[in-house]
Amino acid sequence: MKFSHHPSRSIPWRGMVLISCLLFNLLIGTVVVASTISTTHEVRPGETLSEIARTYGTSVSALAKLNGLSNPNRIQAGQLLLIQPPLKEHVVQPGDTLSKLAAQYGVTVLALAVFNELDDPDRLMVGQVLVIPPSGGDGALQTIASNRRLNGVSLRWPIEGGVISSLFGMRGDRMHYGLDIAAATGTPVYAAAAGRVVYAGSAGTYGNLVKIDHGNGIVSAYAHNSRIRVRVGEYVTAGQHIADVGNTGRSSGPHLHFEVEVNGERIDPLSVLPARR
Ligand SMILES: [Zn+2]
Repeated sequence: MKFSHHPSRSIPWRGMVLISCLLFNLLIGTVVVASTISTTHEVRPGETLSEIARTYGTSVSALAKLNGLSNPNRIQAGQLLLIQPPLKEHVVQPGDTLSKLAAQYGVTVLALAVFNELDDPDRLMVGQVLVIPPSGGDGALQTIASNRRLNGVSLRWPIEGGVISSLFGMRGDRMHYGLDIAAATGTPVYAAAAGRVVYAGSAGTYGNLVKIDHGNGIVSAYAHNSRIRVRVGEYVTAGQHIADVGNTGRSSGPHLHFEVEVNGERIDPLSVLPARR
């Protein structure tokens, strides 16, 4: 069985976009290597379009429209769905500025800066590759930026309520690689996104640990549980009840220790979780 949602570089109409970009650039007298990127998802057995929409933070109608689905209830395992419209890339040329590019592509300077995580928007380097965001308002930009950071996987909070008791970062002279959320023993722990359970058992200082592989290099981990409710190899949906909060392993009170890994590197979960309601 295969679980993947991966950037695809084989969208049939990509060639057309490429050709039209080249034509455009010939017309304006510059040579720009243009290409597009997009995210696709391979439908798993039993998966519904609304589950997929929730996983990626999009809607059923948007997915149906993007993929030309006349009946959103009829999708098949193994079918490849386009999750976001292909995005153009632009290779920075001498004389390019963000405002010039914004005008050229019909997007805002802010959108370009946020989308490309530019530290200093005034300093573009020739040869630098910029991803051109979808045109439209800046409202959804934060979501899009964090989705990009997680290669298209969007995460939800693994617990309802509770109190953040320790942040990701240096704690004394040790690095703390997760986010701690204190909550009563037995509080449900939920899968932050759909995926496959790759660890479910005791793990030293982590106590009872669950790890879920979300595909595309994204893994989440849930430590110190009192009870584990899934088995290795099992597929879980986003928001599925996978464990109960506990105080197992090296823990000084019931809490969830939550980690997010991107390509093997643990990142601050708060940088990719949605704002708490
Ligand atoms: Zn912790």
